[in-house]
Amino acid sequence: MVWLRSVIYYLFVTLVALFTGAVAGVEWGLGFALAVTLISLWFHLYNLGRLHYWLQHPRVDNVPGSLLLWQDVFDRLYDQVRHQKKAKERLSATVDRFMSAGEALPDGVIILDEYDRIEWCNPAASHHLGLNQLADVGQQVTHLVRHPPLRDYLKNQDFSHPLMLRVTRPQEQVLSVQLVPFDSTRKLLLSRDITSLDRVQTVHRDFVANVSHELRTPLTVVGGFIETMQDMPDLDAGTRNQHLQLMHDQTQRMQRLVEDLLTLSRLESGQQLREEEVDVPQLLQQLLTEAEGLSQGRHTVSIGAIARAKLIGNHDELHSAFGNLVSNAIRYTPAGGSITLGWELRGEQGHFFVRDTGIGLAPEHIPRLTERFYRVDRGRSRNTGGTGLGLAIVKHILQRHQAQMVIQSKLGEGSEFAVKFPAQRTLD
Ligand code: ADP
Repeated sequence: MVWLRSVIYYLFVTLVALFTGAVAGVEWGLGFALAVTLISLWFHLYNLGRLHYWLQHPRVDNVPGSLLLWQDVFDRLYDQVRHQKKAKERLSATVDRFMSAGEALPDGVIILDEYDRIEWCNPAASHHLGLNQLADVGQQVTHLVRHPPLRDYLKNQDFSHPLMLRVTRPQEQVLSVQLVPFDSTRKLLLSRDITSLDRVQTVHRDFVANVSHELRTPLTVVGGFIETMQDMPDLDAGTRNQHLQLMHDQTQRMQRLVEDLLTLSRLESGQQLREEEVDVPQLLQQLLTEAEGLSQGRHTVSIGAIARAKLIGNHDELHSAFGNLVSNAIRYTPAGGSITLGWELRGEQGHFFVRDTGIGLAPEHIPRLTERFYRVDRGRSRNTGGTGLGLAIVKHILQRHQAQMVIQSKLGEGSEFAVKFPAQRTLD
C-alpha cells in the first residue's frame, strides 16, 4: 500500500532527525528535518507541475514517470488513459460501422434535429430528394425539398402514414416517405423507392379493369338477348336460332378468356417446369395439321425447315406457345397468303419460327405485343376469336424455357415470330 509506505518513510525521517538531534545536537536534528522537508516539498511541487502540464496535454505516450507515491499516481493515470483510449477506439469503430451501414442502405435516411435541420443524410436520401450530402447539412429540410406534398407532410405533423411521392428528378420515381420521431427531439426521415411496386399495382389495376371490360361486352350481349326472348316469347324460330347462335358465340368468347386467364395464372404461379425430351419435328407436323384445320384452305401452309434436333422442355407448354404463334399467323393473314413453320439449328441453338405474308405490324407496336390485352386492331382480334392474352402466355412459357422471342415485321408485308432456345436445351 502506497500511503503506508509514505507513512513509514516519514516516520523513518522523523526517527533519523530525532536520532541526529540526540547524537549531534538539536540544531543538526532540526537542520536535517528541514532539509528533508524542503527536498520533499520540491519533489511534490515538481511532480504536481508535471501532472499539471500533462493534464493540459493529455496523451497516452507522454504520461510522466516518477518515484514513490507519484509513481503510483502516474501508473494509475496511465492505466486509466489507456483504457479510455481503447474504449474511444472501440466506440469510434462502432460509430464508423453504423455510418458505413447507413451509407450503404438502399433506403434513404435523414436525421433531423428539433428544428428540422439536417444533421446527417445518406447517399440514397440525397439521391431520392435531390439533396447535397455535405453542403446541405445544417439546413432546414423544408427549405431544401422542392416537392410541395413533402413540405405539407412535414408541416402538418401527422406522421401516422407514409407519404407517396412522385418525383421526376434526377429520374422518375415513386417514393414512400415517412417521418419517425426518436430521441424526444430528433426525427428520422426515411425514403424508399417503390417505383416497381407501384408499377406492379398499376399493372394489376389495369388487368382487373381489362378483364372486367372484356367480360362485360359478351355478358351485355347475352343479357340483352335473354331479355328480348323473355319479353317476346312468340319470336319466330329463325330469329330465335339466330339469337341463340349469337349467345353461344359470346359464351364461347368468355370461355376462351377464362381459359386463357387460368393458363396465365398457372404459369405465373411459378410451378416448376416438368421437363421432358420434346420431339420438335413431330410437333411441327402436328402444328401443320392444326394450322390447315384453322385455315380451312384459305392459306398455303408449309414447313420451311425441319432439323432433327429435340428440345428439353415441357411438351404441352411448348405446343401451346407454338400453337398460339401459328394461329396468330393464320388469323392475321388474309386469304390467299402463306404461312411457313420451321425448326432449325443455328450453331447449337434451336430456332423455331412462324412466317406469314399477312397484315404485318408497324414498328411501334412490336415491343408491346406481349403485354396482356394489347392489340393493334381490337375488332380484328375479337372477330377472329382472340382474347388479347395469346402472346402474354407465349412470353411466360418462353421465359420458363429461357428462350427469347424475336419479332420481325413489315406493315402490309408480313411477320416472322422466331423463338431462340439456348444451346443447353437443344439436343442434336
Ligand atoms: P390476340 O388474341 O388479340 O391475337 P395476341 O396476344 O395473340 O392477342 O396478339 C396480340 C396482338 O399482336 C394482336 O392483337 C395483333 O394485333 C398482333 N399480332 C399477333 N400476331 C400477329 C401476326 N402474325 N401478324 C400481325 N399482327 C399480329
